[in-house]
Amino acid sequence: MGYYKNIKCGNCKYSFTGGYSPANGFMDSNLGIPYVKCPKCRIINATGDIPWSQFSSWKKIYHWISLIIRGLLYGFFLGAIIWGVLTKLLEIDFNINIFFPIGIGIIITLSIMIKYNTKTVKKIEKRCMNKDWDYLLSETKNN
Ligand SMILES: [Zn+2]
Repeated sequence: MGYYKNIKCGNCKYSFTGGYSPANGFMDSNLGIPYVKCPKCRIINATGDIPWSQFSSWKKIYHWISLIIRGLLYGFFLGAIIWGVLTKLLEIDFNINIFFPIGIGIIITLSIMIKYNTKTVKKIEKRCMNKDWDYLLSETKNN
């Protein structure tokens, strides 16, 4: 979910394309692993991200507002697209209000995002505790 930031190693210019931390993209609150070790030259780079435990109250509020706004947007489109496919492409007549599928889309999207957020927060805290700055492309992507 979301996209992944792209930074380059300050030493050898290795590109961390596709994943040292899951980024929000739109309205990014910089939740993530603060450092990442370059797999090529082993230099530790600062990512500009911080773990949840170091978030200020304002940053926590911003993070939740951001998550809810994105959930509403993605959920709206998810509901609208599914609704469009069912009614226009498959020509099924449900005889219900369009807000019903959109509401369901929003609930599903928000639930997934909140669950993913909890998992990500825990994973980042654990890695910070262990000072584990390894660049794990597959792990950060498959959570
Ligand atoms: Zn490097």
